[in-house]
Order: sequence, then C-alpha cells, then structure tokens
Amino acid sequence: MLDPDAVEPETWAVVGGRAAADGGWLNVPPVLASTFQLGSGRAYAREHATPTWEAFEQLLGGLEGGEVVAFASGMAAVAAVFDLLPAGASVVLGEDCYQGVGGLAAAGAAQGRWRLLRLAVEDTDAWVQAAGRADLLWLESPSNPLLAVADLPAVCAAERGSRTLIAVDSTFATPLVQRPLELGADLVVHSATKYLGGHSDLLLGAVATRSGRLADGLRERRRLAGATPGALEAYLATRGMRTLALRLERASGSAALLARRLAEHPDVAVVRHPGLSDHPTHAVACRFMRGFGAVVSFDVHGGAARADAICAALEIIRHATSLGGVESTIERRGAVPGQEHLPPGLLRLSVGCEHVEDLWADLARALERTADLAAAGDGAIP
Ligand SMILES: *Cc1c(COP(=O)(O)O)cnc(C)c1O
Repeated sequence: MLDPDAVEPETWAVVGGRAAADGGWLNVPPVLASTFQLGSGRAYAREHATPTWEAFEQLLGGLEGGEVVAFASGMAAVAAVFDLLPAGASVVLGEDCYQGVGGLAAAGAAQGRWRLLRLAVEDTDAWVQAAGRADLLWLESPSNPLLAVADLPAVCAAERGSRTLIAVDSTFATPLVQRPLELGADLVVHSATKYLGGHSDLLLGAVATRSGRLADGLRERRRLAGATPGALEAYLATRGMRTLALRLERASGSAALLARRLAEHPDVAVVRHPGLSDHPTHAVACRFMRGFGAVVSFDVHGGAARADAICAALEIIRHATSLGGVESTIERRGAVPGQEHLPPGLLRLSVGCEHVEDLWADLARALERTADLAAAGDGAIP
C-alpha cells in the first residue's frame, strides 16, 4: 500500500482509495449491500461498513493525515462529534458559523445537554483561554459566511484541559488548503456535500482524527445512531475528489480575481475574502493556509432589495444555496432562517469552474441592471 505522506496531496487525491493492485477493481464501485454472507468478514453494513465507504474514508484520510469515519451528511458528522461529549459539557462555538451547527448547538443547550459560549472567530486570546476549561472548542474556519479565519496554529497549541477536544469544521478550506490535525486539532469535520463531492449532487459528511479512541467512538455513534453513508453518495464523493485539486485551483484563482474586481466596484460596500490584503484575518490565513478558498461574500449598496434583484438578474451564476460545486452559486444569506443578524445586502458567492470573465460579466451586468436600487439602503446592519 502506498503511503499517502510519500506523495503530494494532489497525487493522493487521484491514487488513494483504490483497491490493491491485484484487487480487480480500478475504482471501488458502489456496493449495494446491507448484508453479507456470514464468514466473509462483514455481516451488516451499519456495523461493518462497505468497501465503498472505506474507499472514501481512505482517500480523505490520506489527505487529512488521519483516520476518517464517513456519515450520511455533514450535519450527521457534526452531531456524532457533539454526541461524544459528557452530559453537562462546556462547548465553545464561533459567533459566525454554519447555521445548522449553530442550531444544533443551541438545541442541545436548550435541552440541558451542554453549556454554550460563543466567541468571535478572530478573538484568538479568548479561544486560547477557553481551551483551558472547555470540553469542546468548535472552530469553523474559514467561517460561514463572513470568512473569518481562526488562528488554528495558536488555538490548537494552547494549553488545554485533559478533556478538551478541538474540532475544526474545515468544509470551506478542504484538506488541500489546511490540515488541522497536523496543527494539533483532535477532529476535522467536513460536509463532503460541498467541495469534496463538488457537483451538488449528494449529501455526505466525514470526521477525521488521529486518535484511535475517538475514531472508535465515532464509529460506535454511527453504528448506534445509524447515520450511515449511502453507497452511491460515497462512490460519487470519491469520484468527485479525483478532481478536487483541479477544481479548487480554478475556482480559487477566479474567486481571488472576482474579489478584487468587486472591491473596486462603486456599488459594493464590503468584500470579504481571506485572500484580500485588507481582510481582517488575511495575515493569519497567510501564516498557515495554502490558498484562501473559493467563497467570496460581499455587501451591495441597496440592501436586501438590491441583493435579491441581483440574484434574480444573474444568468450564469445560479441563485441557489450551498457551495463548493463546479457551478457558481449565490445567495443572500440574511434571507436564511437563523441568519437574520447578517447585513441584509450580504451575498455569498461560491465561485465555480466557469471561465472567470463570463462570471465577471454576469456580476457586472447584474449590478448595472439593478443600479436604480442602490439608494434603497447601504447594506449595513439596520
Ligand atoms: C453545509 C455545511 C455543513 C452541513 O453539511 P450537510 O452536508 O449539509 O449536512 C456543516 N458545516 C459547514 C461549514 C457547511 O458549509
């Protein structure tokens, strides 16, 4: 078996997660089996996994530098991590984070399962202090949708309590941009629905860890709670990851260019992208990330009405939620339930693999066509 650390990640993305050289299959196919013949080494898929899930887990595990447990969705992976906590635990979460994770954490706190503290993603000192006493630090970085980058090297190196777990939701970064386990994080969580799958055609999640004890605990959660990956989803995510490096290189190059052009546009109030030199956490990102991802958030003059009109006027960029697909998508995040605190004119753009000049032409045209709405408001928080 090839050692993933012996090759570049771009190579592992292509060669990892395949059957042994004499194993017959070049690509491990979608194995549609719940049950196996007794004596074959597996009995039941929820307990013993399938070769298709394992191919995905090996592929992502090599990229993250750990062992991976796959789940039915990103949220199933998140929930499995929270389920590892003892009753009455103390959880620290970023102020800006995916609304599903915020909702899960708030619901558990309301049930009395844990206490919840929210900290600004960029307030490194507060996270370092919290590491001494919390049971779980949940760092989503870059964060959704403000794209704040947490100082992962500093927080992961902080002195912490004997029970403190550090989990990083690395969905926006992918393992090609950051490897939190190397920095000392205990767990890395992915919504494979996004960049890993890459084609907006599946739901899948994963957790990576270097701790055999945590990996066993996560597999136990999967076995007991039953949030198992689908065969087709695991197969498609593996296939999607073969081109992750190509897709991400194209998309992040385009995102950097679009962010710079948007920043120069008179109708755009704020652009957030960690690659911009005036982004509040640009310097932190430069210290440990290999790239800045392919999401850009920007606020337009004219507030919610203008932002909605832009979404309707775009012809190439699709008005849709989610991110990380080959197709560019855009959404006014303040319109999402639970995200009403965001600037009303904030648009989150997930840059895909179309030609960047077509994307820019689409954005410039939509801004021009909606120019009469610019005076409606300044896009600031009311
Ligand atoms: C989408 C997303 C999730 C949830 O993943 P699903 O696959 O939709 O369940 C969690 N974290 C982040 C950062 C996400 O973008």
